[in-house]
Amino acid sequence: MTAPVSAPAPKAASGFSANANDPPPWLDEPPPWSDDEQPPWPTEADARDIAQDRRPQAPGPAPDLAADQHAIANMDWDALDANVTECRRCKLCETRTKTVFGTGNRQAELLFIGEGPGQDEDRQGEPFVGRAGQLLNKMLAAVGLKREQVYIANIVKCRPPGNRNPEPDEASACRPYLERQIALIQPKLIVSLGAVSANNLLGNTEAVGRLRGKPHQYQPSQGTAPIPLIVTYHPSYYLRSPAEKAKGWQDLQRIIKTRYPW
Ligand code: URA
Ligand code: SF4
Repeated sequence: MTAPVSAPAPKAASGFSANANDPPPWLDEPPPWSDDEQPPWPTEADARDIAQDRRPQAPGPAPDLAADQHAIANMDWDALDANVTECRRCKLCETRTKTVFGTGNRQAELLFIGEGPGQDEDRQGEPFVGRAGQLLNKMLAAVGLKREQVYIANIVKCRPPGNRNPEPDEASACRPYLERQIALIQPKLIVSLGAVSANNLLGNTEAVGRLRGKPHQYQPSQGTAPIPLIVTYHPSYYLRSPAEKAKGWQDLQRIIKTRYPW
């Protein structure tokens, strides 16, 4: 006797699971690389980028970071956008192709903050458009959210050469722009994608594994009320370790189900 074959569970057309406890469609996907593909470690071109980045800086007038910071804190969206496009507040301006300001709904309740532009983002001037971005889009779709409904930004707006982590002086030079974006958006919840985002926004050095699943708060420097913040893994972590996607699903469900957790 053969066991009865059960009918596949119905799936909503939107990609939103009919039952909130069903795993999302992206959880079942095979990893988006084949075994013969080159791993994503630095290429020769990246190594050249990094070497170039390490050259001593040409002498010249240092930008008055503190004075600019005051001006940035009072800018509207258009002024902020224009300033970022022209920005030379840190050495990442030397190697970027395009600045990556941020994208999405400027009145979003949910603000996702990543690390910094990668190669695709640097070329296109938009955050999360490469492989990690495509996975982020699927993760959002799995809980019924479109990319345009949320706001997506990064800790630094210019690509760190070779995709290295942003250095502390770069993150702090860029911080006033992000702070102004947060002040203008006034999100209900900030979602930090990965350790660079979480550590910069929370001012700690803890691993994501220890920060996940706990309520945190982002304290704006301008003295306004703290904003709830949660930490989840960066989508590129799920590309490297697909088995961990369930954790991202858990975190997203928590955000959506309890609208919002804290
Ligand atoms: N990774 C990030 O952290 N941000 C991007 O915009 C793209 C990849
Ligand atoms: Fe300016 Fe930020 Fe780019 Fe540095 S990373 S040059 S601070 S926009």
